[in-house]
Amino acid sequence: MTNPTYDVVVIGSGPGGYVCAIRAAQLGLSVACIEKDATLGGTCLNVGCIPSKALLESSELFHRAGKEFKKHGILVEPSLDLPTMLARKDKIVSQLTRGVAGLFEKNGVTTYTGLGRFKSAREVEVVVDGQVAATLSAGAVVVATGSSVAELRGVTMDGERIFGSTEALSLPEVPEHLVVIGAGVIGLEMGSVWARLGSRVTVLEYMPVVFPGADADISKQAQRSFRKLGLKFKLGVAVQGATVTDSGVTVTYTEKGAEQTIDCDRVLVAVGRTAHTEGLNGAAIGLEGDNRGRLEIDDHFRTAVGGVYAIGDVVRGPMLAHKAEEEGVAVAEILAGRAGHVNYDAIPSVIYTHPEVASVGKTEEQLKEAGVEYAVGRFPFMANGRAKAMEGTDGFVKLLSDAKTDKLLGAHVIGPMAGELIGELTLAMEFGASTEDIARTCHAHPTLSEVIKEAALDANGRVIHI
Ligand code: FAD
Ligand code: NAD
Repeated sequence: MTNPTYDVVVIGSGPGGYVCAIRAAQLGLSVACIEKDATLGGTCLNVGCIPSKALLESSELFHRAGKEFKKHGILVEPSLDLPTMLARKDKIVSQLTRGVAGLFEKNGVTTYTGLGRFKSAREVEVVVDGQVAATLSAGAVVVATGSSVAELRGVTMDGERIFGSTEALSLPEVPEHLVVIGAGVIGLEMGSVWARLGSRVTVLEYMPVVFPGADADISKQAQRSFRKLGLKFKLGVAVQGATVTDSGVTVTYTEKGAEQTIDCDRVLVAVGRTAHTEGLNGAAIGLEGDNRGRLEIDDHFRTAVGGVYAIGDVVRGPMLAHKAEEEGVAVAEILAGRAGHVNYDAIPSVIYTHPEVASVGKTEEQLKEAGVEYAVGRFPFMANGRAKAMEGTDGFVKLLSDAKTDKLLGAHVIGPMAGELIGELTLAMEFGASTEDIARTCHAHPTLSEVIKEAALDANGRVIHI
């Protein structure tokens, strides 16, 4: 029997893989996508971006109803129906994963459910229950196998008391005391969810700041806001281990050289993610991982093996769904003989806490280190009418521009709807705009986006409203 043959076989149906498959099919290529899990959409749709945002939204409403509605003259006493909250999240996930299946059908992408395993560079087996169910021949293979939760030495995740982000999306009850290891994106998004629902949350972080790598002003402001929510931080501490006891978990860590312990009832391990290449049999065809296990690629997403490409979390760069999508489109266009390209200087990043945190481009620390002369424009949400009307005055916009040319080099927003506001600033960066361009653009009143305009005016020494 001859193998089914496709121009492109994509392994993995996350935002990198499914977008690549659809774009390649749109460009006239015959495409198959192999997914090992029962539903399409990868980490992002099933256990990442979407369910976490659903819970962030629900928990924020619950929190505001309890703490903020009275400021608006609305008197309610909310009580929590956790099963309904979790079911709403699951429903959204299932609608969206079925949506990807529908898009595959519409675009003529053939789906294979099973583990994708290289037989040779141009042949991929689909393995179901340990048996080869099909062998696909491919003109090109795109590896989009994503990432998995990173483990922490000394801390064994049992999935119940000590767990990663997936279980944190479906806890059966609100923990009395949740310890979060890692003050990065997952730690603070999921820590916020459970804190808003009533958990005491303590965050243990190895570095001396929250969101290490963010612009330092943003990270300081974020920590202040999280403290207001009630999160406790132990920064600059190294977790050594965690032991499940009869009553919960004891976490051991060192602080300034001294060993300390903290008791809690559950522990979320959120110390990063690692590239996922398990089961792929990549080594057999010569696929190389770098020192962090990520597949090495060149500027055109080509691995060292002819005909094999890789995109998304399994390769270098930020582990973000939209970065994976951009790479998926670019590689599909390259495979169709077009010029696919990703501008890595203009990839926004959003943290969906309250306040939201969003950035694009360079931080002030990166500009200093690179010896670039820069100007700073800042404006607080406190001085913005819409933010006041929304009770969303915590935070500011900070713009960094080239001191000589005024070109926007970096933009950082902490405040209400920061994730939406960063769109304008990303477009500005993509177009090579200056802060003068932003300052001269009419922004509707009263909107949060006026804070961006004022920050741009500030960069030019002519702020109006402060
Ligand atoms: P993935 O989405 O991980 O998809 C890889 C797919 O490949 C999976 O379905 C996997 O089952 C499949 N696979 C793996 N190996 C094989 C194989 N051998 N054969 C067949 N199939 C295989 N990013 C954002 O941009 N915004 C957010 O708000 C956000 N929130 C997040 C929240 C959480 C809790 C987590 C964990 C992540 C979040 N991320 C977010 C990150 C985002 O989910 C990832 O960057 C994104 O999913 C990466 O896409 P990908 O296509 O590279 O890989
Ligand atoms: P992260 O890299 O954002 O944060 C991990 C944190 O753990 C860091 O602050 C690190 O210093 C700390 N850490 C590492 N080892 C430690 C130790 N032994 N003790 C204490 N702290 C330790 O990783 P994450 O939060 O797990 O998220 C993983 C990836 O998922 C990120 O790269 C992110 O891009 C992606 N993600 C994105 C979003 C979003 O875009 N909104 C949301 C969730 C996840």
